[in-house]
Amino acid sequence: MAAKNVGNPYDGRIRRAERLATLHPFTQEVLTFYKQIAEFQKSLHARMLSGSKPQVSDKKEGEKNLPALRQELKIEALLPHFQEFLQLVARSAPVTLAESARQLSTQASESWAGILQDYWATSGRDDRPNAAFDQFLPRAFLQPYAEHLAGERVADETSAFPSLCPLCGARPLLGVLRPEGDGGKRFLLCSFCLREWEFRRIFCATCAEETETKLPVYVAEQFPYIRVEACETCKFYLRTIDLTKDGNAVPLVDDLAAIPLSLWAEEHGYSRAQPNLRGT
Ligand SMILES: [Zn+2]
Ligand SMILES: [Zn+2]
Repeated sequence: MAAKNVGNPYDGRIRRAERLATLHPFTQEVLTFYKQIAEFQKSLHARMLSGSKPQVSDKKEGEKNLPALRQELKIEALLPHFQEFLQLVARSAPVTLAESARQLSTQASESWAGILQDYWATSGRDDRPNAAFDQFLPRAFLQPYAEHLAGERVADETSAFPSLCPLCGARPLLGVLRPEGDGGKRFLLCSFCLREWEFRRIFCATCAEETETKLPVYVAEQFPYIRVEACETCKFYLRTIDLTKDGNAVPLVDDLAAIPLSLWAEEHGYSRAQPNLRGT
C-alpha cells in the first residue's frame, strides 16, 4: 500500500524549502520562488476544501477514454483563481516565465480554459516528455487539484502498466525509498497527481530494462540521499530520494534543490523522463 500524505502537505514543503535554501545557498532563488508557488497552492487547496462540491457535469466526448481522475476537471470552479496565480508568477518568476504569465493574463478566460484542459488530459501520458517551460503555468496551478482528487481515491494497485500511475496514467516524476524493515521499499511518485505506488527496485521505469549491470546508480557528495538511477539501454534516468538516508527530505522539494545532479546527468548523456517544475 502506498504511503499517503496525512494532513496538509504544503506546510511541510514550505518549511523544507526554507531549510534547503539555508543549507545550499545556490538553491535560494529557485526555492524562494517555489515557496511562493507552494503558498498559493496551499491557499487554493484550502479554498477547494471549503467550496461546495461542484455538480457532476456530463462527460464530454473524448473524455470517456481517460483514466477516471482525468475526467474530473471542474474547470468552472478553478478559472476564477487563475488570474491571481498568473499575477503571482508575473511578479516573482524568472524573467521569461514572468513575461509569459503576463501575456497570458491579458487573454480571455476561454484561452485559459483551453490550456488547462489540454494539460489536464495529456500531461505525463504522451510519448514526449513534458515540455517543462510551456507546462509550468498549468502544471503549478492544477497540481493541488490533481493531488486533492488523488487523495480522495483508493488506487487500483493492479494496474496493467506498473510504470504508470495507477490513478491517472502519468509517468513517474521521482522514485522514493521509504524505510521498511532493515532496508527500503521503493515507490514511484506520480508526475501529475503525486500519488505514490510501489515498484520493483531493479527495473527501468522507462524501458523495462532489468539487468542490474545496465542500471548504474550515481550519488553526488552534496546530496548523498538522492540516487541518480540511470539506464544504459534507454539513456533515461530517474531520481530517487532515499528517505532511509535522510528522513527529513521532502521528495518534491529536495528534487528541486538538486540542481548539480541535472548538470551532471546532462554531461553524461542521460535525459530525465519527466522534468520537475524547474524544468530539469
Ligand atoms: Zn497520478
Ligand atoms: Zn531504460
